[in-house]
Amino acid sequence: MEFSNYLAALDRAPAAKAKCGYCMYEFNALGKEDTICIFCENLVSNAQDAAVFSAEIAGAISKAQAAAGSNDWETATKTLDSIAASSTDPKLTYVISIFYRYFSDFSYYSINYSMPGFMEQNAAKIRQGLDLTTRWKELMYRTLSQIELKIKSETPADETLLWLRFIAYIKLRNLADAKTALKDLLYLGKKDVLSEYAQMVLYVELNDKKSEGALEAMLKNGVLTSFYYLAKYLARNKKSDGAKQILEKLIKRNAMPIALPLLNKISAEESHY
Ligand SMILES: [Zn+2]
Repeated sequence: MEFSNYLAALDRAPAAKAKCGYCMYEFNALGKEDTICIFCENLVSNAQDAAVFSAEIAGAISKAQAAAGSNDWETATKTLDSIAASSTDPKLTYVISIFYRYFSDFSYYSINYSMPGFMEQNAAKIRQGLDLTTRWKELMYRTLSQIELKIKSETPADETLLWLRFIAYIKLRNLADAKTALKDLLYLGKKDVLSEYAQMVLYVELNDKKSEGALEAMLKNGVLTSFYYLAKYLARNKKSDGAKQILEKLIKRNAMPIALPLLNKISAEESHY
């Protein structure tokens, strides 16, 4: 597998504006095919689907997204908390959890390790990061229990819910349950972006050799987030230079939110050698 070919393709690819109906994030997708959101990893489809949330909820999420984009965390968290309190919809609870996960990552990677003496400012950031970690995990577990309730009452199970259950377990690093969730998703028998993407994510997280073929297929389809998983796979296999190159490119192209913490982690691990 020649990764540099895909990197070159990433440079050449025309950008198509895409907007996620879940988290309202806007980004430059590769082409106009169905793709995966680079903020919350939900399906971004060009089909004229019904809106995911009510106009009021969508408006609140857009407000939080704009506030997060300008590092106004107070407005972002206040807005999100106001809609989280009454959320019984796992799709909404998941999206809010992803926001908090992003805030917690952001809080950790803004720690300045080069500050001299007792780092009071850093200590505050670490505390804040821990609080935010507790918050996103709590919301992610709530997402999972809300999904279980819905799946029990809905037959056949909705593909989006099965996908969410899978990716929620991935975010929580519970790979055993993610594996079971993937089986249920694949059992639907749909050969679409979501199921292929889910299979690739699990291979990469397990650092399975089959990652390479699965990654290649996704890269060919121009799914931007698969470059993030490619970087992860390379970093885990002693190719952190290639991984960093990919992540820097993604950040430059899109300010890809999930790429920043990974780049930071790879760089921090390197500094231990
Ligand atoms: Zn999204």
